[in-house]
Amino acid sequence: MNFTIRKKLRRCRIGVLRLGSLEVQTPSCTLYTRGGAIPHLTSDVLRSIKNLPPAVHLSLQTIIDQPGTDVISQSNYDGIKQFLGLEGFISYLSIQDPIQETREGYNEEKSVSVWTPGGRKKIDVNLFITVLEVFKPDIVQCLCDTTPASGQTEKRIRKSVDRTLKFLDKFIEERGRNKSLTSCNMLGVIEGSNSEKERIRSAKETSQRPVAGFVLEGFSSSTRNWCSLLQKTVDLLLDDKPRFIHGIGSPEEVVSAVECGIDIFDSSYPYQVTDRGCALDINWSRKRLKPELNYSPSTPEALNSEQKSSENSLNKVSNSTHNKELPDEGTLYEMNLNHPRYSSDFTPLFSTCTCYCCTNHTRAYVHHLLVTKEMLAKVLLMTHNLHEYSQFFARIRSSIEEDNFDEFKRDFLESQPL
Ligand SMILES: [Zn+2]
Repeated sequence: MNFTIRKKLRRCRIGVLRLGSLEVQTPSCTLYTRGGAIPHLTSDVLRSIKNLPPAVHLSLQTIIDQPGTDVISQSNYDGIKQFLGLEGFISYLSIQDPIQETREGYNEEKSVSVWTPGGRKKIDVNLFITVLEVFKPDIVQCLCDTTPASGQTEKRIRKSVDRTLKFLDKFIEERGRNKSLTSCNMLGVIEGSNSEKERIRSAKETSQRPVAGFVLEGFSSSTRNWCSLLQKTVDLLLDDKPRFIHGIGSPEEVVSAVECGIDIFDSSYPYQVTDRGCALDINWSRKRLKPELNYSPSTPEALNSEQKSSENSLNKVSNSTHNKELPDEGTLYEMNLNHPRYSSDFTPLFSTCTCYCCTNHTRAYVHHLLVTKEMLAKVLLMTHNLHEYSQFFARIRSSIEEDNFDEFKRDFLESQPL
């Protein structure tokens, strides 16, 4: 694996993660999977979505039981990527599923617990190495004792950092003896919950070890000063190695984390939006047009009027409600297509979006599919949401490339309600 930084703008950076002929432009996201599959999408549909990053995020928690190591080791498949039909993608293996809450109190000195559909499974370094030998992922998060972002004692946080470093040292030792692990791109894990002292210790210690990059675990935007702590932690990491983060995914969180120097996120956010029956809307120019959160043009005249307004992009939203949960209407970034208001709305989901869903179907049709509980509803929404999320990262990269990240961020913030 090779990671090159192409440009830096203070802490923000654009780079390229290369593995063989595959390239991921950063900042970007990996494609979230469950049980080795992108939720709601078949391989054919996935490959039909243009400009997605060629990297999938597998989690040990969702694949350790099924397919498991036995099925793959007894087959002729060369690793899990071939078994899952994901050739053409870089595979990244994490320990926990990023959207499932980690159960506290079950990790031990020599093992980490993951909760699978079959129950608790203890992963020690030996089992971890067996998994790597069989699954052969391209990039791997090292075994780690992750603690939640808040509510932990200093003693528990210290133990979490100690154990995580021990797991890393044990792996490095084993890699020296085991040739099949030589090419393993292992990411060191930065723990420390909300303790600045332990975050600093974890970052400094991990940076001194031969790792291919870093994963920042245990950050949550629900904790105070998470951004400041992330910034202080990232400042201690080696500059030329990629930085992954879990648990940070909403648009405003991503913008803040990119500003702290994070390179790679996961795409569990658009998956969660899809499962709420919502369509993502994080196109800034479109955002500024919305006089109200629940505004939704339903006639060609209204659409024309909106397009005219787009020429006057200085219009600013001032009277909607940022990020407040509105079950009927969605949130600022989401159009909730479950709502009856869309039953006779025969316009595209978003007239300027070029995805398959928006260019071929209407809000009324997706609403109908949701109401009748047709699987196609989630397929179409996932197609749009992944496209929209991927475009969001492309805009971030362009803004850094063109030296106008500050303007991009200002526009983004100004599009937020007061
Ligand atoms: Zn679309």
